[in-house]
Amino acid sequence: MPITERLYYSDSHLVEFEARVVDVTDRVSGWTAVVLDRTAFYPTGGGQPSDTGTLNSSRVVECIDDGDNGVLHVVQGAAPARDATVRGRVDWSRRLDHIQQHTGQHILSQALVKLFNAPTKSFRVMDASCEIDVELNNPTTEVIERAVELANNVIWEDRSIAVLNVTPEQAAELPLRKESAREGELRLIEIEGFDLTPCGGTHAVRTGEVGMIAVRSWLRAKGMTRIEFVAGTRALADYRKANKTAREIATLFSTGRDDAPQLAAQMVEENKELHRRIRVLEEDAAGVEAERLLATAQNGVVTQVFNGRDAESLKKLAHALIATPGTIALLGSRDKDTARLVFARSIDAPGDMSSLMREACAMLDGRGGGKPELAQGGGKNVDKLSDAITHAANSVSTQNE
Ligand SMILES: [Zn+2]
Repeated sequence: MPITERLYYSDSHLVEFEARVVDVTDRVSGWTAVVLDRTAFYPTGGGQPSDTGTLNSSRVVECIDDGDNGVLHVVQGAAPARDATVRGRVDWSRRLDHIQQHTGQHILSQALVKLFNAPTKSFRVMDASCEIDVELNNPTTEVIERAVELANNVIWEDRSIAVLNVTPEQAAELPLRKESAREGELRLIEIEGFDLTPCGGTHAVRTGEVGMIAVRSWLRAKGMTRIEFVAGTRALADYRKANKTAREIATLFSTGRDDAPQLAAQMVEENKELHRRIRVLEEDAAGVEAERLLATAQNGVVTQVFNGRDAESLKKLAHALIATPGTIALLGSRDKDTARLVFARSIDAPGDMSSLMREACAMLDGRGGGKPELAQGGGKNVDKLSDAITHAANSVSTQNE
């Protein structure tokens, strides 16, 4: 006889019970494992997390299935004494959540078998959603939603759910959805006229208790389809979250929730078009600006320091300048804490921009380099930017002499 009678097997809705303490062991400091002669606490297993609750005034933070040694109730703080009679209380909202996810999984898994002959290979209840790995090839939104539709119809038909205890011989004659790895007597969960499968978890009494099922997402993983779903109160929580997100996005576009995707797509398109337009305008502007700067050139050398220009913009201007033969462009720009430099020369102009750049960057306490005809760099020493360009201009004059 197992040491702990498992009351949750026969009544998944039992949350209060009395039991005798048969064993108390200190585990690590402040944590004690209590074994009872009977328990309504479900221990972690079968993809379903443990129940939590209280034993008298002690907090049960987790329950572990120790096989024939019973269910270990991990208690935080003072534990009840051996042989004491304790009153156990299971946290109902957590149990109900697990009942909804777990029963919801039975229903969704059988819907996938009935419609697509796609068996479920594993199941996990996570913090906010659940996952099943299904042998379903070529999943599409339409395929997944057909299974979701069937599952919800089964929920709303409010079918009864029964627990059957059968011998392995009896089980062999029954159309079970999956094989059980257990030996001896089998516990079967029967959803009236829909599903029959071996399982040791806690389930709803009628399918209606599951409320509803929604699929959040799916993806292909390890040759299977991983489906993320939510059932019951999780489905409502997820709807609230999704609705809030959708409405916040819609507000950005000053439109209603359901019109937001179309407007967002339109705006992305417009944004691309604007970028194209800006590139053209920048090139035009660089041409005009280059003409103005060329008028200030001394011996073909143009120097200029700007505020707040990025490297791309400097490069564009440099290219426009060196289109005029015999031109050397020494350009810089500064922000609050960064100085940038672009040096460039026409093919027929003298000088090594790369070595000029390295010297200039050393003055800026930064780094840079490039090719003899084009180099870029920058540094932190913003105050030295003008000096660095003047120094480069002087070096170029010396090189030219
Ligand atoms: Zn189950």
